[in-house]
Amino acid sequence: MTHDLIIIGAGAAGLAAANEAESRGLHYIVLEAAPKPGKKLLATGNGKGNLCNIEGGKRFYNTDFVEYVLNVYTPQYIIHYFEGLGLKTKLMDKRVYPHTESSSTVLDILLKNAYDKIITNYRVKKIEKVDGLFVINDEHYSENVLFCTGSNATSGSDSLSLLLPFGHRIKPFAPALVPLVTEIRYLKGLSGIRVKARARLLESGREVAQQDGEVLFKDNGISGIAVFMLSTYISRSPGDYTVSLDLAYDITEQHIADFPIEGILRRELAANVLKQAKDSGRSKERTIKDFRIKVLSVGDIKHAQVCTGGLLTEDFNKITLESKLVKGLYAAGEALNVDGECGGYNLHWAFASAINAVSKLPLGIGQ
Ligand SMILES: Cc1cc2nc3c(=O)[nH]c(=O)nc-3n(C[C@H](O)[C@H](O)[C@H](O)COP(=O)(O)OP(=O)(O)OC[C@H]3O[C@@H](n4cnc5c(N)ncnc54)[C@H](O)[C@@H]3O)c2cc1C
Repeated sequence: MTHDLIIIGAGAAGLAAANEAESRGLHYIVLEAAPKPGKKLLATGNGKGNLCNIEGGKRFYNTDFVEYVLNVYTPQYIIHYFEGLGLKTKLMDKRVYPHTESSSTVLDILLKNAYDKIITNYRVKKIEKVDGLFVINDEHYSENVLFCTGSNATSGSDSLSLLLPFGHRIKPFAPALVPLVTEIRYLKGLSGIRVKARARLLESGREVAQQDGEVLFKDNGISGIAVFMLSTYISRSPGDYTVSLDLAYDITEQHIADFPIEGILRRELAANVLKQAKDSGRSKERTIKDFRIKVLSVGDIKHAQVCTGGLLTEDFNKITLESKLVKGLYAAGEALNVDGECGGYNLHWAFASAINAVSKLPLGIGQ
């Protein structure tokens, strides 16, 4: 049997694509290497499933390639799309979550209509185009293929090489939203402690990025949402970086001086701040506002939420997401060289790009 569409990968993008294919009455299947679909989707938003962010737009991504798709598939579109599938959503600080605050509800909703079309434990190892038809692993035939294999974040492996025989170019994946491995001199006893801070990223002493939010201290470095955001800059442009934390950004330096340090910071943090103040010859007040941690590297790929890199977007049409090299071949989600900031932007791209690609399949298909 020849399908209208074969979707490779049943992650966020592949499952949204399947729902779109279903609603358009296409003959399609989804091929998924893992025993179950949507594994990474379940991990998103600390298991709550952060679908998108109402403050959407291309400025939250590494590339303008996203512009057309995000202008059409706005955050409001994504919210209505999911509510149309039966999922009540809710807003928490600009982030959109399922009302249940459980990513498993999102997965269940996406699987409801498409479950029968998903073949799990099925790794695509070969994609060919023979006489105008795509042939997958010598056994599945289709007019069109949508490539939704994601990145190697967490798993360490990816499937981009499947498209090399077609001439597609690849930027190797590098961990993007990921903890930072740092010097540990001033992190003694801090592992597991979370603080709200203003985190500034300094490259050779010059500020290149700033983010307010949670910082989590770890044995070998720092993590948390604010740090994830900074890690993206380092991945895109490796260099000599230091993170400067303002540990009391809602209090002026002068006002800090009115209090003992233990009245401003927790005891373990105060001890490290005092140590750095002594070593650097700066006041404790200054050090609270500018606690410096030298970055050694971005963390391991297995701890990354997202990767930068992927299929070069220059080889794809930004309106249709069809390959410029192979007619009928489309790509969506993280497999493309698109990465967004923390806060729902990567799932938004996965859903929006996948729905868009299926909606752009040639007219008449599935009729
Ligand atoms: C811990 C964690 C938390 C995150 N939190 C958020 C968040 O809060 N908000 C947000 O926006 N984003 C978040 N992300 C990122 C988000 O999950 C991804 O950007 C998104 O899942 C990408 O969707 P995708 O469909 O492109 O790829 P994936 O979801 O990775 O799906 C790809 C699928 O393709 C399958 N596959 C790969 N190769 C093959 C092959 N050869 N044959 C068959 N199948 C194949 C894989 O098994 C996988 O199921 C988080 C990620 C992680 C790891």
